Amino acid sequence: MGEFELIDRFFRRPVRRAALGVGDDCALLNIRPGMQLAVSTDLLVEGRHFLSTVDPARLGHKALAVNLSDLAACGAEPLAFTLSLSMPRPDERFLAPFAQGLLALADRHGIELVGGDTTAGPLTLGITVMGEVPPGQALRRSGARAGDVLWVSGFPGEARLALEVFRSTLSLSEDDFHAARRAMELPEPRVALGLALRGLATAAIDVSDGLLGDLGHVLRASGVGATLRLADFPRRPLLARQPVAVQRMALLTGGDDYELLFTAPEAAGPAVQAAAAQAGVPVQAIGRITATPGLQALDEAGAPLDLAGWAAFDHFKS
Ligand code: ADP
Ligand code: MG
Repeated sequence: MGEFELIDRFFRRPVRRAALGVGDDCALLNIRPGMQLAVSTDLLVEGRHFLSTVDPARLGHKALAVNLSDLAACGAEPLAFTLSLSMPRPDERFLAPFAQGLLALADRHGIELVGGDTTAGPLTLGITVMGEVPPGQALRRSGARAGDVLWVSGFPGEARLALEVFRSTLSLSEDDFHAARRAMELPEPRVALGLALRGLATAAIDVSDGLLGDLGHVLRASGVGATLRLADFPRRPLLARQPVAVQRMALLTGGDDYELLFTAPEAAGPAVQAAAAQAGVPVQAIGRITATPGLQALDEAGAPLDLAGWAAFDHFKS
């Protein structure tokens, strides 16, 4: 199977929204007049971001999900995406389920694959997503203000449990491992929540590298600090059953969560809850933004927790 046959078989579908899709030198997108184009790229490398043993359908899902999560964090409405694919050889048993997982998530969000590039090489997946947002309404990292409440969606920390099992540093029951592995491999991008938070959240980011590190980006961009209350972090039984040290590690530095971490004025609390209900995603207030820079945390009993040593994930540091 050659490069062009591969593209035709697995990635070329009739266009619906775009003016021109796969097959020409450029794709042409229709965007509504007056809207801003939101663009984001993520690269997934075998051995770095995923294991060679991952189910290809789940990998297809995740490759697009992590990109859609960035659009969600900006409050942008997804339009289209491109796929850059490097693989050692055209492996049908990989490509068929990979394309199925990828395009099933795309269909659920009403977006289409409009182009890409395909080459031989180590298994690497690059996706660029494009979305629309009204000018001035994108959620940014820089808008958090002292007194704002800090919120998180869903159940951060669960994905990390699966990674620890793969690293043989944690053992889970078969059911718990299955659930943790789903969290790691099938994250659900919070697109509807991001849209519902437009005009409501003062700042937002998606949690990909661990909550502390990603919160740090918001605090630096906004020139503020924060106090976290560990007692208020959402924990389902899967996480709550683990030793407290494991829970804290997973919640604070977990990574691969793809939940939204966002701030809103205290008075907007009911509106935030209404937005979350409309989006069908649980949200939880986990702390507060402070004028004093820096990050403080209170443990489950309300006592100060020393955060020194809780490093966030950095590809060039670890
Ligand atoms: P060019 O040489 O003009 O860059 P290519 O030969 O690389 O074009 O690709 C041919 C067409 O197939 C282009 O429209 C490109 O966007 C599309 N394409 C290539 N690889 C992929 C892929 N993995 N997924 C979707 N579309 C792809
Ligand atoms: Mg090309």
